[in-house]
Amino acid sequence: MPNEPATTDRLHAFRMVVGGERRAGRGEQSVLVEPWSGQPFATVEMGTTDDLDDAVFAAAAAFDGSGWATGRPLDRAAVLGQVASTLRARTEEIGALEARNVGRPLAECRHNVELAADAFAYFASLSTHLRGASIPIGSGLLDYSLREPYGVCGLITPWNNPIVLSSWKIAAGLAAGNALVVKPASATPLSVLIMADLLEEAGLPGGILNVVPGPGGQLGDHLAAHPGVRKVSFTGSTATGIHVLQRAAPNLAKVSLELGGKSPSLVFADAEMDAAISGSVPAMFSNAGQMCTARSRILVQRSRYDEFLDRFVDRVGQLKMGSPFDDAVTLGPLISPAQVDTVLRFIERAKADGARIVCGGGRPSDPMLAAGNFVEPTVITGVKDDMEIVTEEVFGPVVVVEQFDDEDEVVRRVNASRYGLAATVWTRDLALAHRVAAVLQAGTVTINTTKVSHVYAPFGGYKQSGLGRELGLEGLDEFLQVKNVIVSTV
Ligand code: NAP
Repeated sequence: MPNEPATTDRLHAFRMVVGGERRAGRGEQSVLVEPWSGQPFATVEMGTTDDLDDAVFAAAAAFDGSGWATGRPLDRAAVLGQVASTLRARTEEIGALEARNVGRPLAECRHNVELAADAFAYFASLSTHLRGASIPIGSGLLDYSLREPYGVCGLITPWNNPIVLSSWKIAAGLAAGNALVVKPASATPLSVLIMADLLEEAGLPGGILNVVPGPGGQLGDHLAAHPGVRKVSFTGSTATGIHVLQRAAPNLAKVSLELGGKSPSLVFADAEMDAAISGSVPAMFSNAGQMCTARSRILVQRSRYDEFLDRFVDRVGQLKMGSPFDDAVTLGPLISPAQVDTVLRFIERAKADGARIVCGGGRPSDPMLAAGNFVEPTVITGVKDDMEIVTEEVFGPVVVVEQFDDEDEVVRRVNASRYGLAATVWTRDLALAHRVAAVLQAGTVTINTTKVSHVYAPFGGYKQSGLGRELGLEGLDEFLQVKNVIVSTV
């Protein structure tokens, strides 16, 4: 039975998905609240480690028995392609539910449903191209390689951009022929549960996709360490990612990790300033800064620093906080009161370290926003490179703006970060842009543009921002292992 929609007197009710069935979990029921109003709007049945064991068992049985991996690639492509079409047809409805769950402005959530549809469409097409190679190894022998799924994969996903980040893993994992067990973030599990509905409607065999919501410290931990799981794909914080890697190690399960960042924007003096300023605002404040790729550290070449800062602060001041369903709103709330506290503590410590708050710095005074998890968009200057506010991911609407003198210096300073997820370079000098892109330690470098992920191209982190890649051909490869076959022909 599908998940139930809300009525006037009842909340949306969501149940876990195991072996093709909607189930009440053995855990507690969680009540989700809208992050901008504090109003409850949905309930979710949470699972336990026993439910997770059932899900891994169901996935293994479906992998062996359903023919998902061994059937016609075109049939797999048809299922994934239909999900892409349904997501597009139901963008308004699914985007609205995502907006209620995440608090992000509806227009951005609609766009994210389309990005999820793009991921399903892209991996649908790749699922018909799982080719190996024939390899010359000498006369009397035939050698060929096969690209095969792992079997059961465990996916652990974060709360900040749930529909997009889950779609990357689910679409790639299924395109490769795997069976999946997903542990979505406790705060935002709804879009993954909806994806399970859409996949079932599209004809995915029961048990190939299982979704068990529940507390990460128990369920995520159990899934990462589960001996029945051959591959773990995790997106979340660096600290939890390291833990997941350690938990998977005794099984030697393949692990890919998409982790945190402190991604810089480098604004050179010759940059097109209008573009650098108008691009740096959404690159930082999209989803209230709760983006792994938020360009939360801006370094401006000294001769243009004052101009950039004045105009950037002016633009930041135009951001409007409020309900995701108000078309004028450009900055939503944070996911939870706990996240608000975390962000405010970062700001307080930055002040104590001697940094200057140029704008924002606290909760908004507007009483209309009092029920929500809002933090004012905050610009900080007067920092030193070793301050926490410069080195650590805040995951909220807080940006530092610094100065630099020359190319070598700025590259050295940003490469000193323990993270390496994304970096953006603003300059009109193409030679400079390519020189800097070549030496920046980041999984993605953008030049005079800010969008860091496109389904066709690999996305992931250097250093403590991750292991492995999502999207692109590399994203599919993460869900495939290679078998080599050697045949005597004499
Ligand atoms: P998180 O706290 O690390 O949680 C991520 C997922 O792991 C959630 O499903 C969580 O479950 C689960 N989890 C928690 N403790 C666990 C444990 N001990 N063992 C296994 N799983 C566990 O991260 P988050 O706060 O949701 O997301 C924000 C972080 O994700 C930021 O650092 C951000 O940069 C990063 N991120 C990275 C990317 C990327 O592509 N590189 C994209 C988005 C976000 P619960 O929800 O139940 O706690």
